[in-house]
Order: sequence, then structure tokens, then C-alpha cells
Amino acid sequence: MDTLAHAPHAGNLFIIAAPSGGGKSSLVAGLLRNDPSIHLSVSCTTRAPRPGEQDGREYHFVTPEAFEAMRESGELLEWAKVHGNHYGTPRRWIQSAMSEGRDAILEIDWQGARQVRQHFPSAVGVFIVPPSIEVLEERLHRRGQDDPQVIARRLVAAGGELAHAPEFEYVIINQEFSVALQELETIIRASRLRYASQSARHAELFAQLGILNDGH
Ligand code: GDP
Ligand code: ADP
Ligand code: 5GP
Repeated sequence: MDTLAHAPHAGNLFIIAAPSGGGKSSLVAGLLRNDPSIHLSVSCTTRAPRPGEQDGREYHFVTPEAFEAMRESGELLEWAKVHGNHYGTPRRWIQSAMSEGRDAILEIDWQGARQVRQHFPSAVGVFIVPPSIEVLEERLHRRGQDDPQVIARRLVAAGGELAHAPEFEYVIINQEFSVALQELETIIRASRLRYASQSARHAELFAQLGILNDGH
């Protein structure tokens, strides 16, 4: 287990997962617009950039060889093959965010979420589901960023991904966007009020009040 997971100034770590088109990126973008104190991890991927995606912003776009080299040298906290491409979370970034007490958010798939929970058991998992498969399909088409065969592949995969929802603490049904965003913000707010988080952020007050740090 990562020793940083229990560091006194550990920030909160949020994992957001959903089937493709579920609304992860839109909801996380909305969250960060209202609360810039949360830091979004930029994953590495072997997928080709979509129109409008910029290297270093949505992803670090890398060759399969470069990805393999990062994986081999332990630079990735987790990695997984999703929809035929490789995706991974840079380790160094997340370690510095946690040790500096910053809140961080990962938009990753369920396989990656499992790996991250092993390193950071207090990570908060949020799974986003669409109101129906039909709506999911419609949103993927309307987003208009993937080829029809890529969309078909992602829809086939959606069932398998949804089956992993029970591994997450929270589930948001992304029907009305503004409601889903408020729900995500509520989860973030409540998580920040957990004992471990509050006692780390307000150590001096806790000491003055005589609250013992009993390792919660
Ligand atoms: P989207 O699902 O339509 O947003 O498509 P993306 O191509 O952005 O993501 C594809 C899949 O890869 C999704 O299931 C993501 O959750 C997953 N993914 C993205 N980044 C990471 C990562 O760093 N690690 C892992 N394990 N999965 C990731
Ligand atoms: P993901 O990152 O999980 O693949 P996106 O955030 O790209 O999903 O959302 C997929 C598409 O659905 C986008 O075009 C987005 O604008 C749209 N969308 C997301 N949430 C909603 C919602 N609640 N109502 C209508 N459209 C939505
Ligand atoms: P897209 O290709 O549509 O950007 O992403 C497809 C899927 O890959 C999404 O479900 C996304 O969450 C996942 N994904 C993106 N980055 C990572 C990552 O670093 N690790 C893992 N495990 N999954 C990722």
C-alpha cells in the first residue's frame, strides 16, 4: 500500500467512471469550472486524438512503444486496455497532489479504479450511469466525435462496464445535467468533511479542542 495514502496532509482522491458517453468528461468539466481547487489527472493513452483534443490537455497522446516503456519503468499508477487502446495514470503527478494535500480527480475505467483503490483505499469512487441505453447511444452519436464502428464497439462494451457499478460507493444517474452536476458536487463536499480529511486540514484546531488523532 502507498504510504502517502495515510499521510497527515493527504488530499481527497476521487475516481469517476462511466461507460463511454455516460457524461464523465462533461460533469468533471462542470465541476472544475465551479471549483478550480480540484486537480484533474491527465492520463496517457495510445488512442488517436479526437478533433479538438490537445496533447497534454485531454490526454498525453503516446505511441504504443512509449506507453509500454512507461508501464515497464513503473511510471504508471495504474493502466488498462479499454476499447482496444491503452490508458494509464501517471504516478508522479498523483503522488505529489496527495502529498501536498490537494484534491485530485481521475476519470478512469473500472479496471483502473480497482488498481487505484489498492494504493489509496480512501479514494472515493463515483460511477455515472445514463438514464437508459437508448439515451447513451443517442449521446454518443450526438457527440459526433467517434466513427460509427467505434461507437458500436463502445455500446457493446457498455453492458460489461455497467456491471461494475456495485464496486463504487456512489452512483449518479445522469439524466438532467444540472441535477447530476449538483449531485457530484454534493459527493465532493461530503467527502471533504470526512474525519481523516478534516483532521488533516485543521490539525491545529483539532489539537486545541483536544481531539485525539487516533488514526481514523
Ligand atoms: P470516453 O469514455 O468517451 O470519455 O472516452 P475516452 O477515450 O476518454 O476513455 C476511454 C476509457 O478509458 C474510459 O473507460 C476511461 O474511463 C478510460 N480511461 C481514461 N483514462 C484512463 C486512465 O488513466 N486509466 C485507466 N485505467 N483508464 C482510463
Ligand atoms: P464521457 O466522457 O463519459 O464519454 P461525455 O461527457 O463526453 O461522456 O458525454 C457524452 C455526450 O453526452 C456529450 O456530447 C455530452 O455533451 C452529452 N451529455 C452529457 N450529459 C448529458 C445530459 N445530462 N443530458 C444531455 N446530454 C448530455
Ligand atoms: P475515450 O477514448 O472516450 O477518451 O475514453 C474511453 C475510456 O477510457 C473512458 O471510459 C475513460 O474513462 C477511460 N480512460 C481514460 N483514461 C484512462 C486511464 O488513464 N486509465 C484507465 N484505466 N482508463 C482510462
